[in-house]
Amino acid sequence: MEVTKALPTGFWMSRDNLPDTRIHFKYERLQDAYCLNCGVLGHGRKECNKERVMTSWNWDMPKYTAGMGSIKQKQFMLQRRRRRSSATKKK
Ligand SMILES: [Zn+2]
Repeated sequence: MEVTKALPTGFWMSRDNLPDTRIHFKYERLQDAYCLNCGVLGHGRKECNKERVMTSWNWDMPKYTAGMGSIKQKQFMLQRRRRRSSATKKK
């Protein structure tokens, strides 16, 4: 696996006679060396100097969350709040 690039969070699966469904990858043991900002392994979010990556289908939703392993709702809410207060909202 190429670890210097952002990890894929999932893919669209096409199904016969059914709408495409989004498959979300889950990663176990994502440690501090994984950046939730840009999705790249090797540095933590605090050292990241890139802009936060948002999902392509919801620009209010961070693409890389701790919830990639298991959803931590509390942490997710905190991240959202922090973003709201620190960033100007773009439309
Ligand atoms: Zn980063």
